[in-house]
Amino acid sequence: MSDTITQLARPPFRKAERGHVLDRTGSLVIPCDDEILCMLFSEREVEKDGHFLCPKCGRLGQRMVEATASQCGL
Ligand SMILES: [Zn+2]
Repeated sequence: MSDTITQLARPPFRKAERGHVLDRTGSLVIPCDDEILCMLFSEREVEKDGHFLCPKCGRLGQRMVEATASQCGL
C-alpha cells in the first residue's frame, strides 16, 4: 500500500504518441478530475492500489481519463 504522495505524477511531463502525456517515470498522467484541474497522478502508481485519495480536494478516485497536454502545462 502506497501513500498518496507517491501516487502523484512527477514532472517534468512530456508528450508521447497519440496525445498521451508521460511523467518523469514514464507513467501515463491522469487527472484527479478531468473537468476541474486539480492534482495530477501517476497511472502506474495509482493502479498498484486501484484507487487514489486526492490530498487537495479529498476525492476518492480511480483510473479515469488521461490528462491532456494543456493540463500538464505542455
Ligand atoms: Zn483533487
